[in-house]
Amino acid sequence: MDFTGKLDEAGARALDAGSELASTRERFLIPPSPAHESREAIYLCGNSLGLQPKTLRPALLAELDDWGRLGVEGHFHGKHPWFSAHEPLRAPAARLVGAEPHEVVVMNSLTVNLHLLMASFFRPEGQRTKILIDAPTFPSDVYAVKSQLRFHGLDPAEHLLVVGPRDGEHTLRTEDVLETLEREGDRIALLLLGGVNYYTGQLLPLGKVTSAAQAKGCVVGVDLAHAAGNAVLKLHEWGVDFAAWCNYKYINSGPGALGGAFVHERHLGRGGAEDFAAFTARPRFEGWWGNEPESRFQMGPEFVPVKAADAWQLSNPPILALTPVRVSLELFEEIGIDRLREKSLRLTGYLEQLLDGISDQGLEVITPRDPDQRGCQLSILAHNDPEGLHARLQAAGVICDFRRPNVIRVAPVPLYNTFLDCYEFAEVLRGV
Ligand SMILES: *Cc1c(COP(=O)(O)O)cnc(C)c1O
Repeated sequence: MDFTGKLDEAGARALDAGSELASTRERFLIPPSPAHESREAIYLCGNSLGLQPKTLRPALLAELDDWGRLGVEGHFHGKHPWFSAHEPLRAPAARLVGAEPHEVVVMNSLTVNLHLLMASFFRPEGQRTKILIDAPTFPSDVYAVKSQLRFHGLDPAEHLLVVGPRDGEHTLRTEDVLETLEREGDRIALLLLGGVNYYTGQLLPLGKVTSAAQAKGCVVGVDLAHAAGNAVLKLHEWGVDFAAWCNYKYINSGPGALGGAFVHERHLGRGGAEDFAAFTARPRFEGWWGNEPESRFQMGPEFVPVKAADAWQLSNPPILALTPVRVSLELFEEIGIDRLREKSLRLTGYLEQLLDGISDQGLEVITPRDPDQRGCQLSILAHNDPEGLHARLQAAGVICDFRRPNVIRVAPVPLYNTFLDCYEFAEVLRGV
């Protein structure tokens, strides 16, 4: 992608005018600029918290009205009956991650889901006891895997393997992941990978790595926090065993939103009686909302799992938290992740070329240059005073984030960011 001749304000405006998705920005509440109340912020922080769809407020009020008007009857007679409220979310959520609807459930939050899925899919046995993760790793994921190891009586110092960028490099080489699997694979019970790395913005070739790990007998789990709603994913086709993600970053469902979980079809007991018996017998933390809906309210003592990712669901879902996910997914359904990704490639490519123009100012983009190896985020390593730089950006009207030790993350999100946002950000950055 070459934006030569378009790297000025008029060029940015022309790109926006020519973009068929330019109007989706109007569906969101854009926060005011931290610099001037009357202007909109240059909001490049959708990697941390996506913006609020305007359709959310009335949708939440409608749920409150149903509760007020129907009381408990809302479970079956509301506009979106609460008893099955999570079910219509399966198909749209599945489309975002490339799954079959029965492989996906919206529930809990990300770290909780990782734990519930690891309870079932991290089963250390004999020589095969280790967990392999990629670095840099988000702290919550590190805490989760270390505590899972200790839960099984295993010392993380010995049983947690980490594959990270080589000395002097910023991103991970796929060949190093494959080499680690080749060398240690027989001792690895679980490979837990980030889809898009939170720090560097690197997108890993998940299909390739999954096949290599499974050929060695490892179970593969993926954390899609920064990938869901951002990259095009094919979890079913890649054969990933399980995955979890949050819905408040690129999926715009609000702070602390309910997360998503994926379990591959081959683990869902759908292949006949024997398969179902194995599915029922799999160690799992269980609750009534994981039970078949037909017998859920018979209140019997036997757990009969839904032949779906729902089997991992424990409680009846918090309806007021489910509503933002439903509303946000409607937008993705309307537009489609493929079209969003197409725009995203252009937006991020544009931002990259603008940043290339100021690369002599002690700044270095560490996100891979190859668009197939990244989502929309670019991570800018600031060699001098990154915290001060971040504060000056904020004072000039930019909302983006800073991650220790020295990275400023900017994410032009195709649903609501514009080429003009990218241009204005680069100008502010040049100025500060
Ligand atoms: C955002 C993020 C989390 C957050 O976890 P929650 O349980 O939703 O609070 C965890 N892991 C990664 C990689 C993330 O990017």
